[in-house]
Amino acid sequence: MNFCSKCGSARIEKKIPEGDTLPRYVCQDCGEIHYSNPNVVTGVLPINDANEILLCRRSIEPRSGFWTLPAGFLENGESIEQGALRETREEAKLEVNNVKLFTVISVPKINQVYSFFIGEIANTDFGPTPESSEVKLFHVDNIPWDKLAFRTVKLTIEQYLEHGRNSFFNRVLDN
Ligand SMILES: [Zn+2]
Repeated sequence: MNFCSKCGSARIEKKIPEGDTLPRYVCQDCGEIHYSNPNVVTGVLPINDANEILLCRRSIEPRSGFWTLPAGFLENGESIEQGALRETREEAKLEVNNVKLFTVISVPKINQVYSFFIGEIANTDFGPTPESSEVKLFHVDNIPWDKLAFRTVKLTIEQYLEHGRNSFFNRVLDN
């Protein structure tokens, strides 16, 4: 951090504020304490009665060209469920019904928390968007395992195949 976002000062010092336990960037001019906290990624595992899962082929970095579940960063003012449904519309033009929290995966090494909801595919006119070059249904026997974008996506699909839609897990990815 080079400049204070409150007053513009360049006099930033990393120190443990009084009463705190961790070092923070503290402005030496206005006293503002700049906290840095993990980001939340929220998304959906869209399923249907034909044993298929909907995946999006990423057209943006990171992992452009790889397949993923519709997901993205939570915005201010949203619940994780609202964020997951918004990302699913934005990335796949998809609506889902009977939405239920399915996996929560903490990834402390990159300061992220992932939440995936499971939901039933509600419309057939889903399709590509600026963020997804392809949006496709994959039968569970035909998942492109070696072309999945992220481990959190792989773990979430595995959880569905091994333990079903009514299961849940809360896990830490620490390597
Ligand atoms: Zn300042």
